[in-house]
Amino acid sequence: MEQITHWINGTLDSTQSARGGDIYNPATGKISKRVAFGDAVTVDRAVDVATAAFSTWRHSSLTKRTQVLFAFRELVQANKEKIAALITAEHGKVLSDAAGEVTRGLEVVEFACGIPHLLKGGFSEEVSTGVDVYSIRQALGPVAIISPFNFPAMVPMWFFPVAIACGNTVIVKPSEKDPSAAMFMAELWKEAGLPDGVFNIVHGDKEVVDALLTHPGIKSISFVGSTPIARYVYETGTKAGKRVQALGGAKNHMVVLPDADLELAADAAINAGFGSAGERCMAISAIVAVEPIASALVARIKSRMARISVGDGTQNVDMGPLVSAVHRDKVASYIGAGVDSGATLVVDGRALDIAGDGFWLGPTLFDNVTPEMSIYKEEIFGPVLSVIRVDTYDEALSLVNSHQYGNGTAIFTNDGGAARRFQNEVEVGMVGINVPIPVPMAYYSFGGWKNSLFGDSHAHGTEGVQFFTRGKVVTSRWLDPSHGGINLGFPQND
Ligand code: NAD
Repeated sequence: MEQITHWINGTLDSTQSARGGDIYNPATGKISKRVAFGDAVTVDRAVDVATAAFSTWRHSSLTKRTQVLFAFRELVQANKEKIAALITAEHGKVLSDAAGEVTRGLEVVEFACGIPHLLKGGFSEEVSTGVDVYSIRQALGPVAIISPFNFPAMVPMWFFPVAIACGNTVIVKPSEKDPSAAMFMAELWKEAGLPDGVFNIVHGDKEVVDALLTHPGIKSISFVGSTPIARYVYETGTKAGKRVQALGGAKNHMVVLPDADLELAADAAINAGFGSAGERCMAISAIVAVEPIASALVARIKSRMARISVGDGTQNVDMGPLVSAVHRDKVASYIGAGVDSGATLVVDGRALDIAGDGFWLGPTLFDNVTPEMSIYKEEIFGPVLSVIRVDTYDEALSLVNSHQYGNGTAIFTNDGGAARRFQNEVEVGMVGINVPIPVPMAYYSFGGWKNSLFGDSHAHGTEGVQFFTRGKVVTSRWLDPSHGGINLGFPQND
């Protein structure tokens, strides 16, 4: 069986690991690979290498860095289908969705190709006699990126192109459930001409994460995952003196006003609720229907759900399996909890009948969900949509704003004034207007509010550049040659 191991200093690590994890193909339920888990010693080794590489990479010219980034961009583009296949085999999402995630990651690489412009500082001439002030931004050193299972290519790519472009060196700790896409990208970096030691991967679980969080050689932590771990990572990393951005879980509301185009809203609910089996931090999981349209909307969503095909993501289907048996069972238990708490189960995904041992669960729809139910309060992270009925816009807004999460949200309406008011009043980091999954383009920054993000820096865009650099301001005085010193032939003043 293939054994995945760490990537340190531009090569596979040959050290034997005492611990490791199984990687499954979620469509078959079978173990396909094993991954070695590192420990504090592995992290020490990777940090030593990344520290040595930093001393030269930080001095590489912007031209050189840009050339490597452009080459990497071309290689990822050329290998998009291969990366997508690796993602589908370990995550389960359908191939088109996996290719889409690579495309979104590539946008960050393309953004980072503009690093010479992004790193330009400010300059104030003659703030006093002979005195100028200017600002520069410098790399931090070795930085760590810890990523979740649900976007094994895109989420690391939210960070590492910008970090490397800024002159840092990187240690990625991918999800232990689907590490192959990151490993393949390590090879592409090497082929693109990135010097060994600039991009490293250490696999593992809490033990490796803890070692990264407390290692004095690691200068920053970029984490994406569930809220309890994000909070822990933020608290532990900042206590160790590091800058930390820790993106957490979500419960994204889609508010549908009575004047909305219900066909558009129903299509959006299907795509945003069940795409990638709901395992997206920007998935819509709560639909807030402002009466009197709730019944009409539920009917439209229900009829569309009957047409969703579920199966192996390598086939021509709409939705693949969930990532693991444990996660599938957890999501299924939420369906039971919803029924027990009195919500109306309109479509029951547990009834899905597919042969084999894949981690299957069909799309599920609840109506008449209320705010105190666990299926509303908690992140389910599966193909389960809840409809909450309210009577007014104010009630809808108050629901969204009272929720512990504030990652993404959307409003569906044909009233520009209502949409404008919503974007102003809603306490959520990313807002869609007739767009259900408002993931910002790479040149804007990605991140939520409240329990969806700990720290004050969002991912990529200019906030990403700020996060991966430290500012320095230089105040310099150069006396005019006419004021003495070496006589260069200028007329001398007294
Ligand atoms: P997770 O929190 O279980 O794992 C994330 C990372 O943390 C993994 O690399 C994992 O190995 C590590 N980890 C797990 N337990 C740990 C522990 N006790 N101590 C230290 N490290 C630990 O998350 P997941 O299940 O892989 O991913 C799904 C979650 O990620 C969902 O909650 C989803 O909303 C969230 N997510 C958020 C965003 C966002 O942008 N806000 C994006 C993608 C995913």
